[in-house]
Amino acid sequence: MRLDIVTIFPEYLEPLNVSLVGKARARGRLDVRVHDLRQWTHDRHNTVDDTPYGGGPGMVMKPEPWGEALDAVIASGDPGGDGDGPVIVVPTPSGSPFTQETAVELAAEPWLVFTPARYEGIDRRVVEEYGERFRVRELSIGDYVLAGGEAPVLVMVEAVARLLPGVLGNAESHRDDSFAPGAMADLLEGPVYTKPPVWRGRDIPEVLLSGHHGRIARWRRDQAFRRTARYRPDLLERCDPAALDAEDRKLLAELGWAERPDGRFGPTAQDVEE
Ligand code: SAM
Repeated sequence: MRLDIVTIFPEYLEPLNVSLVGKARARGRLDVRVHDLRQWTHDRHNTVDDTPYGGGPGMVMKPEPWGEALDAVIASGDPGGDGDGPVIVVPTPSGSPFTQETAVELAAEPWLVFTPARYEGIDRRVVEEYGERFRVRELSIGDYVLAGGEAPVLVMVEAVARLLPGVLGNAESHRDDSFAPGAMADLLEGPVYTKPPVWRGRDIPEVLLSGHHGRIARWRRDQAFRRTARYRPDLLERCDPAALDAEDRKLLAELGWAERPDGRFGPTAQDVEE
């Protein structure tokens, strides 16, 4: 997979040289190219921003350097060879939420171009212009506002890269993750433990030593339900009732959840037990 990142702070992307993404680059699984937006400016001060039309505080990123940068990056190749060009990922707090599902979709693409902005964002015409010719995804990593899009790019790249074949040591590692697509998609992952079996007088749950795969799987599912009910009841509320077995339903009742007229489950008590 090829990733191009255009930014005014190339050094902000240096973490992409370490750990999982760094290793994937070294192994040739990921081709990451970071570009300095200012190389596409033509004035003495390498200006990338200007005052907003209509007034108001802050500055807006000028369309010209972005246009030249994107033209140059896009002209430099098409890894998919299908003529579709890259998917252009525009980090913005006013985009649609970046979720595990988005990461799975992006991981299936051969080429992504990221446009992390600063100031009040990029002149809108850039998204309009490239949206007519390419697939543009405006994505937010959460309901808060950061000073720039570089940290969101690090977040998205790591989430995408770990899904690529041959990047994680154990290909099964992300199968049971929170939000992983599949039967447990609406559940958070429960607690995990490793050796030693007793630490500071604290045992690990006995079932994990039983070697009984069925009981362990059941325990893990119960823990996932408990955790989701406590921290993300919104996820559990949209859980497909058809995916719930008799044990799940019993546990939900224990946690104070009941079936609603629409067939979905929801909490009946004010405080949900862990
Ligand atoms: N005025 C903009 C707004 O309220 O939507 C905020 C601009 S923010 C200060 C500057 C840049 O940081 C954004 O253009 C985007 O690239 C990035 N950014 C900030 N918060 C983000 C978030 N939650 N998700 C994705 N990108 C974000």
